[in-house]
Amino acid sequence: MNNPEILYMVVPCYNEQEVLRETAAQLKTKYNDLMSAGLISKDSRVVFVNDGSKDNTWSIIKELHAADPQLFSGIDLAHNSGHQNAVLAGLMTVKELCDMCITMDADLQDDIDTIDEMVKQYYEGNQVVYGVRSARDTDTFFKKFTAESFYKFMKVMGADVVYNHADFRLMSKRVLQELANFKEVNLFLRGMVPLIGFQSTKVYYERHERLAGESKYPLKKMLAFAINGITSFSTKPLKLITTLGIIMSIASILAFIWAFIAKIGGFTEHGWSSTMCSIWLIGGLQLFCLGIIGEYVGKIYAEVKQRPRYIIAEFLTDAEKKDDK
Ligand code: UDP
Ligand code: MG
Repeated sequence: MNNPEILYMVVPCYNEQEVLRETAAQLKTKYNDLMSAGLISKDSRVVFVNDGSKDNTWSIIKELHAADPQLFSGIDLAHNSGHQNAVLAGLMTVKELCDMCITMDADLQDDIDTIDEMVKQYYEGNQVVYGVRSARDTDTFFKKFTAESFYKFMKVMGADVVYNHADFRLMSKRVLQELANFKEVNLFLRGMVPLIGFQSTKVYYERHERLAGESKYPLKKMLAFAINGITSFSTKPLKLITTLGIIMSIASILAFIWAFIAKIGGFTEHGWSSTMCSIWLIGGLQLFCLGIIGEYVGKIYAEVKQRPRYIIAEFLTDAEKKDDK
């Protein structure tokens, strides 16, 4: 390769003090290998985004930057903004500095050796390279089940995502520039990137166990994430309401005919229970439908406000970039 291009990695970190040094060490080795193989430029960097951690994550990032300012940069967000926002903060910060960018979790669950293949695929002309898990053997049954149901449910509900792909992916500078035009507040990157388009491919890797620390995605957060994904990307729930409404109307017409025939036939013991049942049923359905509409109204509310999606408190970088301003 005559002109290796610049690779930036964006690594969101929330309370990752147990694992961060190891992640940095492994990334450093990987970068050195890629640089000596002539696959990436010497100007390539790793950017850690501290997402309002309550532990020593930020001081470790500062330490890493001080020890190797050529390789490690850091972004400190003013408060915890959530995984997706932290990733976006990193991407938008590096989009003019890099040629390609890989996002990866800090916990080393994503296989670092897959980076080689991603970079190769980039040189083959792919603008997006999705890291896809080939196996989930190390996940607990519960995590595997909930995560796989998540992808299936998303698809059924009309939000198209790449199956078993989380946020381990390579994007070219061009894609990042297009991503910057997506102004939505409810971020769901793995739904947004396929919408951008361009030539893309998948690389497969085995997902490891979290090296240290614990998952920041308990079931409650994962459910919220799924609901956010569906309501941000699909109006299928709204269409389901219409379908439900039509089915209910047909059913009630049939019930009406049945009641009418029963009345003519003279066997009309209209009971209290059937009245109560229908009141409860209709009441429940109405509440359910209102709830779904409420989800969308809530989103419109958030979008209309157009609040900044993250606030960067500090950007550690090496001197040469400072004269850009
Ligand atoms: N993370 C973040 N902000 C948050 C929660 C998580 O930046 O509010 C980061 C976290 O440090 C990790 C990545 O997002 O690098 C994925 O989180 P985690 O590994 O806990 O999720 P899991 O892999 O268990 O789904
Ligand atoms: Mg993880």
